Amino acid sequence: MLAKAKEIIDLRSDTVTLPTEEMFEAIKQAELGDDVFREDPTVNKLEEIAAKKMGKEAALLVASGTQANLVSMLTNTRPGDIAILEAESHIYWYEVGGLSTVAGVLPWPVKGNFGVLNAKNIENVLRPENIHYPDATVVCVENTHNRAGGTITTPSQMKEIRKIAKHHGMKVYMDGARIFNAAVSMKKDVREFTQYTDNLMFCLSKGLSCPIGSIVVGNQEFIEKARKMRKMLGGGMRQAGIIAAPGIIALDKMIPRLEDDHRNAKILAKGLLTIKGISVDLQRVQTNIVCFKITDSKAKAEVFTSKLKENGLLALPTDKNRIRMVTHRGIERTHIEISLGIMETVATNLRRENKSN
Ligand SMILES: *Cc1c(COP(=O)(O)O)cnc(C)c1O
Repeated sequence: MLAKAKEIIDLRSDTVTLPTEEMFEAIKQAELGDDVFREDPTVNKLEEIAAKKMGKEAALLVASGTQANLVSMLTNTRPGDIAILEAESHIYWYEVGGLSTVAGVLPWPVKGNFGVLNAKNIENVLRPENIHYPDATVVCVENTHNRAGGTITTPSQMKEIRKIAKHHGMKVYMDGARIFNAAVSMKKDVREFTQYTDNLMFCLSKGLSCPIGSIVVGNQEFIEKARKMRKMLGGGMRQAGIIAAPGIIALDKMIPRLEDDHRNAKILAKGLLTIKGISVDLQRVQTNIVCFKITDSKAKAEVFTSKLKENGLLALPTDKNRIRMVTHRGIERTHIEISLGIMETVATNLRRENKSN
């Protein structure tokens, strides 16, 4: 148990969420088997529930979001293909270049509007068949978009992307690490988004509070091949039911509460607006991520976050002058208010220091 005297408020990521008591209990009770032999009943059940929820034929439990993306890219492409993706997408920025080193795919980054691609962006980079050109075979949509601050690609925008992709014989893949945040925020069934993708992944280990795991979803043929790719990457797990058991609870019970995180993110963002030296674009705060800028040209995000840390608040610098905060289960409105107080103090102190220097 954490000492309550000076609780640390951790807004670095929603991956810091711990499993619920019910999840721990489910882990203990889980019926297990060898999942490489496809004999773990808990994994089989989770995969069935996930596929159904996403409106697809089949699903595959994997170790992480990064592994899910890599398995999916290996399955959707051949070495030498082009994957069109958003210029600040997670696959491009944060996955150690696995797309190139392991899948042998040439990433073709396209700048979206705060992480959101549209048909024009994609059309602009497409080229007619030519002996010099690699084949562009897949378009990746990140929904919600992490680096852009949790922005949503709406179902109608997805539909447009799908249309252009199909017209040019490309697949649509969704990095839906936080797709349930998009669905809950828009009050839509998640299938309204997934109907426009051939396949996708989502994370259990973020806002849904599971300790481990992501799920790849698609048609039967895709998942069969993805299963083999997962094995190749060393991701064939044995009694993985201990991972799947909390996953079942996540899909059953943890989705609607994401709304609390969105509400808290908005309160946080509105509070930040009133702090001198910080700028935040409220329009971009659509889910549980708040990205803001330090406007004082002398201040650096790293310095700012280290001062926050001294005061018991953890946040993530994402650029020289940009900081990210993420709301999640365990962060209540009072934590947001305390955080805003700390931010105000740190911003004021830094302004004074920079003036006197
Ligand atoms: C977190 C995240 C991932 C990777 O998930 P890990 O489990 O951390 O490997 C992939 N894509 C997006 C958009 C993410 O936010």
